[in-house]
Parts: sequence; C-alpha cells; structure tokens
Amino acid sequence: MKIAVAAETRDGESRVAMVPELVGKLTSLGYDVAVEPGAGQHALLSDEEYVDSGAVIDADAIVDADVVVSVQPLTIERIRRLRRGASTVCFLPTTFEQDAVIDLRDCGITAFAMELVPRISRAQSMDALSSQALVAGYRCAIVAAGMLRRFFPLNMTAAGTVQPAEVVVLGAGVAGLQAIATAKRLGAVVRAYDVRAAAAEEIRSMGAKSIDLELETLEGAGGYAREMTEDRAARQRELLTPYIANADALITTAAVPGRQAPMLVTAAMVEEMRPGSVVVDLAAETGGNVEGSVAGEVVRIGNAQVWGGRNVPSQMPGPASRLYAQNIVNILTLMTATGEGTETGTFAPDFDDEIVAGSCVTHDGEIRHEPTRTALEGAS
Ligand code: NAD
Repeated sequence: MKIAVAAETRDGESRVAMVPELVGKLTSLGYDVAVEPGAGQHALLSDEEYVDSGAVIDADAIVDADVVVSVQPLTIERIRRLRRGASTVCFLPTTFEQDAVIDLRDCGITAFAMELVPRISRAQSMDALSSQALVAGYRCAIVAAGMLRRFFPLNMTAAGTVQPAEVVVLGAGVAGLQAIATAKRLGAVVRAYDVRAAAAEEIRSMGAKSIDLELETLEGAGGYAREMTEDRAARQRELLTPYIANADALITTAAVPGRQAPMLVTAAMVEEMRPGSVVVDLAAETGGNVEGSVAGEVVRIGNAQVWGGRNVPSQMPGPASRLYAQNIVNILTLMTATGEGTETGTFAPDFDDEIVAGSCVTHDGEIRHEPTRTALEGAS
C-alpha cells in the first residue's frame, strides 16, 4: 500500500507531514512512500534526502495513494483527485473547513483529524496539538526576547548591575509552560497565571512565580479550562492590571477548547505598560487574548509593540515537522494491521479503537464526527 506525503499549498505553511529521518519507519511497516516534489523545501529538506531514505518523488503521488498525509487539509481540487476509499490524515479544523468535509464525505474519503485525537495517555505520542504547542510556546518566548530591547537575564558586571526582565505569561497549558521554561532559561523573572487549579504547581515546577488572584479556579471536562462569565473576566482583568503594567514582556497563550480565545487584556491595560514593552499574543488567530492584536502583524498600542501570532509552529518548520511527523508515524502504526495472515503494510484502521473512532471525521460516505455531522446535516 502507498502513503503519499503532500506538498503543502496553503499560504504561509512551511511544515511538512513527513521527514526523511522517519520515512524508514513507514517502509519498515511495509508501505511504499511517495513524496510530492519540493514537499520539504520550506523545512529545508530536499527531495534527495527523501529518496536516500527510501521514498520516491512523484508529482502525482496523491492520485493513487491509499493514505495521504499532510499538515493542512488538502484543497477541494486535490480532494477530488483522490481515489475513492483513500484516507487522509492531517489537521482538519471542521468548524472552518466545512466545504472540505462535505467533499471528503462525497468523494468517499476516510478523513482523520489530528486535533481530534483523544487526549488519553495511550494517544500522547500521537498528540499533534501538544507537539505543535510546544514549538509555538518556545517561539513566543524567543520572539519576546528578540523584540525587547533589553536583557532577559540579570547581568552583574564591573560596569554595574543590569536587572533582569520581568515576563508575565497568561495561560499555562502546553504552550504557556514551554514559554515559561524558555524565558526562565534565558534568565528572566517570570510570573504566570492560569485559571486551572493544577496550573499553579506546574508554573512553580518551571521555576516561575504563580500569580494568585484569589479567584475561583475554572476547570471543565478533561482538566481543560472552562469559559469565564463576563463578571469573572472583568475581575480577572482588573486584578491582572498591575502585574501587566509592571511587565517588560507579556506572553499570552490562553485558550478554551472549541471556543474563541478569551480576551484577557484590554488595550487600556497594555497602555499602562512602560515604553519599550512587548506583548506576544499566541491566540491572535483565534480572536486574541489581547484587545487590538492582529495575527501576523506587529501593532503599537500605547508604549508597547504587540506581536500577533499567525501559524506560529510553522515559523520553526524543522522541529515542528519532525515532531508532527513522529505523531503521524505513531497514528499510522496504530492503524496498520499486524499479526499472522496479515500482509505487511495493510492500512486497516480499527473503528472500535477510541483513538481511531475519535479522530475520524468522514468514512464510507458519512460524516462520523457527531458535532460536525449535526452542524452540516442537522440533528438526526
Ligand atoms: P489550551 O491550548 O486549550 O489552553 C491553554 C491554557 O489556557 C490552558 O492551560 C487553560 O487553562 C488556559 N486558560 C484558559 N482560559 C484562561 C483564562 N481566562 N485565563 C488564564 N488562562 C486561561 O490547553 P492545552 O495547552 O492544550 O492543555 C491544557 C491542559 O491539558 C493542561 O493541563 C495539559 O497538561 C493537559 N493536556 C493533557 C494531555 C494528555 O493527557 N494527553 C495532552 C495535552 C494537554
């Protein structure tokens, strides 16, 4: 059976779903691997490296593939070129990609969405949301350090002492904790806040100070954050104001699954920051944690430069692709039939497995992901 590695066609996407280093994992499962020409070029991976690792380069790789792997969903024109019964494995944000979901259904494609992989411990090695959040969190801290025109660490020199930068991080999930760890490693004094009860200990374990606002914690299903009421949000903003006014760099990474990013910081709060301050809003693309931030741009609010994140993991395409490709290898391994009497390299997802069932969006001409089915076809 054949796995195709698609070249990404969406604007600004620099990652690739498979790296040469991991092609051997797929061929040893018994698959043939075909890569579209130039698929790895933005991640600095050449066609020759893929060939050396056992893949072939083929401009029509997707047409007769059994499985197509990519980072972003395929465009509708490309979905229509796939073989009926083929599978796709990629990020597939079903709320925004409804036309693609309809085409995947109507073309008889089995589509798996990496963001729907259940966050259970058995699926940790397939968790692409976490692997990409790790890259994004690191990048946010580095961007803040690069934009700030002062040191992060304390410097004690013969010419005198320079105090360390004060960094505040809001949201201490996977990305936030990585931003905290990175800012700490660079020597900044880091304070962080998150609404989840478990977060305070996680923040402290990174060597940062946990900001205690003495507000109720907000935990919903599966240990994720719950949405705030407007009253709670206003109180949180009021209590955070002095911490933000005192920060040289503010990094925001807060999100609530399935919702717009919560607005944690008003423009008026940013205006209280000192000249030369920087704000890095990782959530700019999903509504923004900071009022006025713009995804993919740096805007000035008061005395601060405000950087809005846009496809942040793609800004470090090498490591982001390597981690994503490992997630892909792990999920394809789960979906490969093994055991006596099975041909090697047989792609045979077991729909009784909760990871397979949970991540499946379309199969056999049907939408299998219930919220998407209801949104597109109405309640049954
Ligand atoms: P996320 O991207 O949905 O949210 C980022 C952070 O924003 C979360 O920590 C959330 O609590 C915080 N947040 C939301 N609203 C906020 C507000 N108003 N103010 C401040 N902070 C706010 O979350 P994530 O990073 O994907 O993960 C969150 C949790 O899930 C973490 O506990 C993480 O360890 C856990 N997790 C578990 C698994 C697993 O079991 N396989 C995998 C990944 C993450």
